[in-house]
Amino acid sequence: MNYGIKIWSENRFIIREGKLKVNYKSSPYLIDIVQEIRNKGIYGPLLLRFPHLIKRQIELIYTTFNNSIKEISYNGKFNAVFPLKVNQFPNFLTHLVKFGKKYGYGLEAGSKAELILAMTYNNKNAPITVNGFKDREMIKLCFLASKLEHNITIIIEGINELESIIDISKECTIIPNIGIRIRLHSSGKGVWAKSGGINAKFGLNSTEIIKAIQLLKENNLLDKFKMIHFHIGSLLNDIAPLKKALREAGNIYAELRKMGANGLNSINIGGGLSVEYAQHKNQIERHYNLNEYANDVVFMLKEIARSKEVIEPNIYIESGRYIASSHAVIVAPVLELLSSEYNISSLKLKEKNPPLITELYALYNDINSKNALEYLHDAIDHLESLLTLFDLGYIDLIDRSNTEILVNLIIKKASSILGDIHKKELDLIKNLLEERYLLNFSLFQSMPDFWGIGQHFPIMPLTKLDKYPNRSATLWDITCDSDGEIPFKKESPLYLHDIDLDYEEYFLGIFLVGAYQEILSMKHNLFAKPTEAIIDIDSKGYKISDIKESPTILEIFDNLEYNIKDIIKLLSKRMDNNSNLKNELNNFLYDNNYLKTTTLKEKD
Ligand code: PLP
Repeated sequence: MNYGIKIWSENRFIIREGKLKVNYKSSPYLIDIVQEIRNKGIYGPLLLRFPHLIKRQIELIYTTFNNSIKEISYNGKFNAVFPLKVNQFPNFLTHLVKFGKKYGYGLEAGSKAELILAMTYNNKNAPITVNGFKDREMIKLCFLASKLEHNITIIIEGINELESIIDISKECTIIPNIGIRIRLHSSGKGVWAKSGGINAKFGLNSTEIIKAIQLLKENNLLDKFKMIHFHIGSLLNDIAPLKKALREAGNIYAELRKMGANGLNSINIGGGLSVEYAQHKNQIERHYNLNEYANDVVFMLKEIARSKEVIEPNIYIESGRYIASSHAVIVAPVLELLSSEYNISSLKLKEKNPPLITELYALYNDINSKNALEYLHDAIDHLESLLTLFDLGYIDLIDRSNTEILVNLIIKKASSILGDIHKKELDLIKNLLEERYLLNFSLFQSMPDFWGIGQHFPIMPLTKLDKYPNRSATLWDITCDSDGEIPFKKESPLYLHDIDLDYEEYFLGIFLVGAYQEILSMKHNLFAKPTEAIIDIDSKGYKISDIKESPTILEIFDNLEYNIKDIIKLLSKRMDNNSNLKNELNNFLYDNNYLKTTTLKEKD
């Protein structure tokens, strides 16, 4: 079972000797990294960041576009900016800026705070683009950035923003570049389609664009107008909507140049470059690759420029998800298998049992490699009959419980005997009996898009990958919320191993969580950010650094703006200076909120 690794991991991770490896230089096992962190006394979920995966995505995007440009002798230049909204966290951003330096990789800001981050960390001379709604203050901040010699383009979302720019420019000698977000008729598909289209929240329609050009002309600012921008939606799974948008935008670009916008030399195609999150062939959503994407963009813009006889525009891209998603992995320890009551010791056989139960018991005892498939079919048949007998009142709850236990045990035995040989058959049958795995993590904190929009993230165990997983798995997080569940789905099933957690540990990796998830996260039940660590890999091994432990309970209160001194004082009141009690309580206050995995038992 390879958990669709070939579909979603694009070779970033591989399976060797039954364990998951990072496929880079010394190729460490993920489980070794996890154990090393846990050996430092840090339990609970982990967020592992792999800087080499940030580097890889930046390199891929630049080399692919530059190859396309070279191949068809395109005269414009390729530029990229990273949209900060996708991940603003320091352990991500500092690496991104470092690896982007040699390419002049820039940043995109959508708020004052993001713009200040961009002004602080952006590489010298690398572009900054500013999107989103802007008040006068924010436009003043763009002017300030320009004064500080940042290569900044304010992309206006409406005429009122342009009016503020014109107003402020009267008092300034250094004026930022100006871009216009155009409202296209084209839009993407799916959840984010509303980012594009003529009724989109952002951008100027044709009439407003003409008005903007007039205003720029009248105020001698036309030479500052450098860029048109569009964004038709995140996670574009098909290339066709992009092609349509490029045709529309390319022609608007050409028309504007013909209208005298001689400074206009760039088209910013926004974000949307997709990531494949699927783990099953039948769930694959992305229907193009980066090569096709780059070739289409470059080729179409060349064609439009040729036919309209205008210069080929520089290309700007604002891909976020494609750059950031793969660098972060959540590791969630499994705390419990919740149907472990399906155990032979839980059987409550009576002196006289219904004949079908006696038969199930015999099947369980006698199942072997020769009869496994036949006995499995018999057990399922008996299950159905016994459930009908219960509904009709012929057998009692103890008989029903015995039925469930025995059938469950027979399926487990059969699947370990039959393994891959009758996989299809087993998968069908296993769906009857799901196992609930309780994971030490919060779905609301670590994969909010699953809760919000049903986004699937690849999930797989870090070990036992040479063993056939025989349990249909539903995953539960530790929040007190029934939405904190990833249910088992027949069309995209997750099968996990049968583990005796008294004797062994079991960890699940949740992949492609580096884009949007951290900043959108919710502190439901006050489960805060997991402990994070940076994993640098070289040819000799790996180094774990920058461990940022999950916030302590007091830090969480502080973040909610409680006065933590008051909290300590109020709690102490009940303790009458009993230092033992105080110490006991402090152990909780200064520790994080996640659960602790219980210690393993020694095997006899
Ligand atoms: N640029 C703009 C204007 C956006 O609104 C977005 C996201 O919605 C992006 C870029 C990044 O998109 P993605 O992460 O899909 O590449």
